[in-house]
Amino acid sequence: MAESEIHYRRSRYAIISPHRYFKGSGVYRLVYLATKPRLLALSVATADAIRKNDCSVLGAGELSYLVKIGMLIDDEKRDCEYMSGALAEQSQMGALRTFVLMPTSLCNMECSYCGQRHCPLVYSRRVAGRVEDAVVASLDNDEVRAVDVRWYGGEPLMAYHRILKLSSTFVNVARKTHTAYRSSMTTNGSLMTFERLRTLYESAMLRKICVTIDGYGEFHNNSRKMRSGRPTYQPIVNWLMEAVERIDEIPELLIIVRINITVNNASSITRLLYDLYEHGLSDKHILLQLIPVYNWGHDNSGLQLDSRSLNKCMEDWLREAVRLGMHINMLPTAIKKPVCIATNRFATVIDSKGQLYSCSEHPLVTPYDAHEVLGYVDSQSEVFPRPRGKYDDWPTSVINDKVPCSTCPFFPVCGGACPKRWYEGEKPCPIYVDELAFRFDILAEQNGYRVEEGSR
Ligand code: SF4
Ligand code: SF4
Repeated sequence: MAESEIHYRRSRYAIISPHRYFKGSGVYRLVYLATKPRLLALSVATADAIRKNDCSVLGAGELSYLVKIGMLIDDEKRDCEYMSGALAEQSQMGALRTFVLMPTSLCNMECSYCGQRHCPLVYSRRVAGRVEDAVVASLDNDEVRAVDVRWYGGEPLMAYHRILKLSSTFVNVARKTHTAYRSSMTTNGSLMTFERLRTLYESAMLRKICVTIDGYGEFHNNSRKMRSGRPTYQPIVNWLMEAVERIDEIPELLIIVRINITVNNASSITRLLYDLYEHGLSDKHILLQLIPVYNWGHDNSGLQLDSRSLNKCMEDWLREAVRLGMHINMLPTAIKKPVCIATNRFATVIDSKGQLYSCSEHPLVTPYDAHEVLGYVDSQSEVFPRPRGKYDDWPTSVINDKVPCSTCPFFPVCGGACPKRWYEGEKPCPIYVDELAFRFDILAEQNGYRVEEGSR
């Protein structure tokens, strides 16, 4: 059939800006295509034709281009095919093995919103040996191309030497078996120094680290309370600053600075952005994430900003961060397949007792820590596919419309956000979904467009 005879329609994953933008003599809309994901500026005439599914006004070259990039599809089927294809891939992840390792249940902080119940446990020699066997078994498996270890806790740096010891084995075996290996870490940052960071980079193949700063100065110190009372804001900023100054020693490291937003620290976020900027933390190796608190194993609703205030504040903060040249994603830049480890039977969490879980929010959180144990690392060295878990049926839930994600335009980049929260009756949609208009505006301004007066 000739292209002109086919009836095209907009892909449900093409999200069009509500506002219009000027550049030179042209007027445009931005379109975010979640399947790639990518951002395009299209003339208002083209964008509106796509929005109305009226492709008759498009020129042949333009039509062909929009079909090629997947913005226009020839029928509803292709969107559905994307969905089932993406979900089917989730069950074929065996070549990539992911271990979330909790070498300790200890944490030296006691943050008010944390749902974890910490206890003085570290891997015993026996558990450490079994964990080592399990990771080595994956590295030794000819079908495995890559192994990803995520150090998690408690506070993983309370087991720093154990991490180095295990990593030395993992890295050596990975080199021998030519298996890609990398690690990441979620840390409160209180025990980090630049020397430790460089050692982890070199010896543990650490390539991503996520550290939390909960507001400027005392706002952080009061929210991220150390059991010892020691303030940590400045020490964390200091090692981050040193990391940026000596980035050529850790060139492939991505540092995520996560900022949890609460009613208590919202007034300090702008000051925090300035302070980070003044300390040189607008470097491209540092990615900021502004995340409103939600329920981590217990009710945090008293700490949450109401949605109107949050929306207004978030626009101001994002604009300020961009103005300061800080790195922050307005919209996701990567596809999420699978949504998270909990839906992937080639990923497992191993807690400090050697217990296997599917979801990283189950260990140390009552009652999940007792009810959701799937097995024990002692019972077999090859832990994959891990025993069945609570969220393995996630693809079926999406396809059968048990959650609204199957028709959501953000599904390719969101994946459904968090099966655990959906199953517990919450709506875990990421914050950008409710902030599209101003996020498009900021993206437009970053790219030299002006928002058309009156189109806001
Ligand atoms: S189910 Fe939710 S909490 Fe559990 S690992 Fe997935 S995203 Fe995290
Ligand atoms: S969690 Fe929300 S934003 Fe994400 S795919 Fe589901 S409905 Fe869409």
